[in-house]
Amino acid sequence: MINSYNKLLAGNKKWAGEQIAKDPEYFARMVLSQKPEYLWIGCSDSRVPAETITGATPGDIFVHRNIANLVVHTDLNLLSVVEFAVKVLKVKHIILCGHYGCGGVKSSMGNTAYGYVDNWLRHIKEIYVRYAEELENIKDEEARIDRLVEINVMEQVKNLCKTKVVQKALEKKTLQVHGWVYGMQDGLIKELSHTEDTLQAVHPIFKYNTE
Ligand SMILES: [Zn+2]
Repeated sequence: MINSYNKLLAGNKKWAGEQIAKDPEYFARMVLSQKPEYLWIGCSDSRVPAETITGATPGDIFVHRNIANLVVHTDLNLLSVVEFAVKVLKVKHIILCGHYGCGGVKSSMGNTAYGYVDNWLRHIKEIYVRYAEELENIKDEEARIDRLVEINVMEQVKNLCKTKVVQKALEKKTLQVHGWVYGMQDGLIKELSHTEDTLQAVHPIFKYNTE
């Protein structure tokens, strides 16, 4: 439907009205500032909205999403978000959340060219090569994709821990990083990694002097 965007505008009016009815001071409070405790790095997939699946509300989560939830060390957008969240907002947790059945991860395992996204997904192809033996021993295709989804989450959490800003906050113990994966089939989140095991998995060559 060509005018289907009107549905969103109507939904917004209804939502704003409901907020005011429930709590007349709601927007006055929102205007003042934001103090989120969490930075969420997730997939752009429309079925995995951070606030909805965690029962959070506006103001709770600072959000960055891209295709297949990647942390790429030359991505100025991602790096700006991480630095701002850690240094200025002083978030206590960074949650890197992937999801089973991820189209980005699935595409990275194939040979179809889509455009710019092929360059983006090349980062996952590189991971695939490193874990090829384990992955190719999984005969079921869906199970193989889901295993790469998990490996990708853990690798991206490691990438976060390779940045100086995250290393510094981890050293001061003001920050924790978490690797999660969301299950589309039951709506539940599984915890894959915590700060300590991730730090041990990062090679010392990536460690910076942070003083
Ligand atoms: Zn995805």
